[in-house]
Amino acid sequence: MLDRPALRSAGGQNGSVTSAGDVLVIGASFAGLFSAAAAQRAGAHVTVLERDELSDDAAERPGVPQGGQPHVLLHRGLVATQQLLPGLREELLAAGGVPLDTGDIPWLSPDGWLPTGVSAFEIVSLSRPLLELLVRRRVLALDGVELRTGVRVRGLSRAGDRWQVTCDDGGCYVADTVIDASGRSSRLPRWLAGLGISTPEPAVVEAKLGYATRRYRASRPLPLDTGVVVAATPETSAGALALPVEDDQWLVCGAGYGERRPDRDTDAFDRYLRSLSDPALADLIQLLEPVDEVRIHRQTANRRHRYDRVRRWPGGLLVVGDALTAFNPLYGQGITVAACQAQLLSRSLGRRLDRRATRRVQAELAQIADFPWAVATGEDVRYPSCSERQTLGQRLSHVWSQRVNQLAVGGNITCRRTLGGIYHMMVPAIMLFSPRIVGPVLVSLIRGVPPQGPRPAALTAIDGRSQLPTRGAGSSAGGHEADASPGPPVSPQPGL
Ligand SMILES: Cc1cc2nc3c(=O)[nH]c(=O)nc-3n(C[C@H](O)[C@H](O)[C@H](O)COP(=O)(O)OP(=O)(O)OC[C@H]3O[C@@H](n4cnc5c(N)ncnc54)[C@H](O)[C@@H]3O)c2cc1C
Repeated sequence: MLDRPALRSAGGQNGSVTSAGDVLVIGASFAGLFSAAAAQRAGAHVTVLERDELSDDAAERPGVPQGGQPHVLLHRGLVATQQLLPGLREELLAAGGVPLDTGDIPWLSPDGWLPTGVSAFEIVSLSRPLLELLVRRRVLALDGVELRTGVRVRGLSRAGDRWQVTCDDGGCYVADTVIDASGRSSRLPRWLAGLGISTPEPAVVEAKLGYATRRYRASRPLPLDTGVVVAATPETSAGALALPVEDDQWLVCGAGYGERRPDRDTDAFDRYLRSLSDPALADLIQLLEPVDEVRIHRQTANRRHRYDRVRRWPGGLLVVGDALTAFNPLYGQGITVAACQAQLLSRSLGRRLDRRATRRVQAELAQIADFPWAVATGEDVRYPSCSERQTLGQRLSHVWSQRVNQLAVGGNITCRRTLGGIYHMMVPAIMLFSPRIVGPVLVSLIRGVPPQGPRPAALTAIDGRSQLPTRGAGSSAGGHEADASPGPPVSPQPGL
């Protein structure tokens, strides 16, 4: 029974038949919106179903409970979204997004402060609801993309060689291709079980990371306009970051593991920031006015579905974004991975997908998550609160990247640039073994690592003190190639 309008049958806006057919996307968050843009580029007529009622403002909403937490779009994600939605970067800036050079952000890594001051990868910092709104407006302006809100999908079935999607208001939609972009809470395994298709249990690596974020306003100019990061380590299990966003506001976020998860009590939040291995964030909030209460979020496990391994996987069904692979968000990868997956879809959805083609595309979608998964889980297993233990391979990989990070902290620009490039998904991880990295690493095995540089001056201006002790060995700027900083190291860094 079709008691809601079925999708137009393989027809474009003018009733013309397109080889891409009708595509139905479940979920109108980033993965769903990017997929819709990609399918539209490939020539499909697209309908997006979203359970939340959405308004045309930058509001938080129940379907995205993480909306109040800081969200960073890595540089690769910025590039990918620009390709999907040309001109988006300028729109983010026009709406108040703050352009940041990640090389300027004071960053306390586990091995000491990374040097600041040399141009690196750009990010545009803004709140998640505003970013989502701007992306949504652009996608909905595309010809042939429709959004239906307040519609919760509750099941999938076959209708001949097409899909029928049923919703909790009794409506049904028919499509050639269905893309599940319904996030961590995806019910796809259950829906597939109803069709007699069993799927393996997802791989889960849970480090028990908790976020606590408070929004502040800067009512006067600050000595620091870049944000600041104090990274957690397995020894401290506690870190934090602050980012400027639109409207002269800042998001200040504590991110701690296990027993060190910050809670929503405002006094406890202040104490948490003061307890970190550097007082930069505790000092910063003294210069800011709180705008709202502390918001916490604890659904942060790495969770990966291996749908690419399901032999009976049906034709015309694809899964993207958090519904396929959800990461510990600290590494800032989810939106970027969704954008890269959409780039793949824009090349793959130009024709209807039979079973074989669907399996191939689903395997390629899974591959895009391989490296980010390795980064997030490889780092998380080092924490005592993690559900899994470190493998020998992960241990060796960490020893190598830690040495490269120590060289970066000691001022080696190539090491810093390479780590930043890998982390921002701009260069492959194999670059960690290029001769320009291996050489300094080998030299450091004989001569030792250079001493780390000083605490960034912008922080001294915040707390009014001249010098604070820094974490790790040494505090001299000696041994620096230059005051250079092209982005964060690959594994032990939050998502900037
Ligand atoms: C605390 C936190 C911080 C994060 N920080 C970052 C960051 O800095 N950088 C980054 O890149 N990523 C970050 N992420 C990850 C990021 O939020 C997601 O990767 C991103 O939102 C893309 O997810 P998605 O679109 O796949 O799913 P979601 O954002 O979870 O959206 C799923 C959508 O599907 C809808 N939906 C669900 N079920 C149904 C249904 N049955 N019918 C209809 N609609 C449905 C939901 O309402 C929602 O709109 C963070 C995540 C968390 C939890």
